[in-house]
Amino acid sequence: MTRESFARAVSARDLGEHPHLAPVDHLHAMATTSNLGRALNRLRGEDNSVAPAVVALVAGKLAKSGKGRTIRRYSRALADLVAKQALAEWLDPHCRTCHGARELIAGDSRIICQSCAGTGVHRYTQAQRNEAIGSQHARHIPAALAQAHHIISIAYSSSQHQAHHYLHCDE
Ligand SMILES: [Zn+2]
Repeated sequence: MTRESFARAVSARDLGEHPHLAPVDHLHAMATTSNLGRALNRLRGEDNSVAPAVVALVAGKLAKSGKGRTIRRYSRALADLVAKQALAEWLDPHCRTCHGARELIAGDSRIICQSCAGTGVHRYTQAQRNEAIGSQHARHIPAALAQAHHIISIAYSSSQHQAHHYLHCDE
């Protein structure tokens, strides 16, 4: 899924409703992160329909993660915006020049990509993030985004791990 189709999918529906949660919801038996993990797998697998539910799941965890801590508690509205941005970044992490290859082929030689200094990763600037989320939230954005990325990566890696485990148990 591209950032553009993700953006269309999440803006097309009311985030307050979760009509697409049901297909993943019945697989409750696995770990607590499984709903989000499975939804993330579907999102990465080009399933647009799950995008609003994924935003809602990440935002819900993000809004909850601030409670009772010394860090600021994020409003649901901010959590939704941050979740959308984090998911858009997660879906499209690669350098825009080399598309993650880290190098470019010029004739017979390969050269390190200058845009990303050979990391293959696109760097989102603070200005881009402030613009996407809202500059009035600027001072909360770095911490909130870091937390959202953490939620996403934990859920995704956990679901990958479980999928691997199941494949090997079914033999
Ligand atoms: Zn690059």
